[in-house]
Amino acid sequence: MRKNLIAGNWKMNTTLPEGLALAKGLNEALNGKTVKCDVVIGVPFIHLASVAAAIDTSRIAVAAQNCADKEKGAYTGEVSAAMVASTGAKYVILGHSERRAYYHETAEVLKEKVILALANRLTPIFCIGETLDDRDAGKQFDVVDEQVKASLFGLSAEDFSHLVIAYEPVWAIGTGKTATAEQAQEIHAHIRSTIASKYGQAIAENCSILYGGSMNAGNAKELVAKPDVDGGLIGGASLSVENFLPIIEAF
Ligand code: PEP
Repeated sequence: MRKNLIAGNWKMNTTLPEGLALAKGLNEALNGKTVKCDVVIGVPFIHLASVAAAIDTSRIAVAAQNCADKEKGAYTGEVSAAMVASTGAKYVILGHSERRAYYHETAEVLKEKVILALANRLTPIFCIGETLDDRDAGKQFDVVDEQVKASLFGLSAEDFSHLVIAYEPVWAIGTGKTATAEQAQEIHAHIRSTIASKYGQAIAENCSILYGGSMNAGNAKELVAKPDVDGGLIGGASLSVENFLPIIEAF
């Protein structure tokens, strides 16, 4: 069966000492607690190795927020999937709407990143989601289908079975606006049926599909109660233990 997963996305926040304190605080808060989901924290590149060494990674897995679309070599400033994996990180967030919008990441580039992440045994958390204009025009289903097909449908069934999808409506990210649980369920079920049309029912049923967009302690329970919402990708509310812990405990 697919796993329940709560993943934090710290974005470009926290200095290294601040990040270490946050990671250690979460580690302590989860100590001795039984939780009903896997927990991931997506930290800045320079934090990866230190955070992975400072926490119990069997309880909290570490994610990068990006990786390069090239294997290695003369790409100044880039960080490869192999480098990320060598830090102890197990996940990588790919295709976040901020990377698509501000860094012009295309479906083609994301396809390469996914392939390299999987080749290095990292689990991609692959983000998709429509803008407000798309939703107002009733195009949300077409948009997410296109994002999934363009970057992921070249994968073998075996490779596809190792990734996680995060549905993040762009209009809900960092805005305080959340999709209703019904809206999330509707589109998650649609995404699962699109996956089933290519890879079959079993792989679609096993794929964890997270919701992201202003998820917080107040709305998490209702969202994760929906049958096709398998967890969340959380930005702002992952920056403090106080806000993140109740989301983990929503399951
Ligand atoms: C995100 O960045 O993936 C996100 C969902 O952010 P927030 O929770 O702050 O809306």
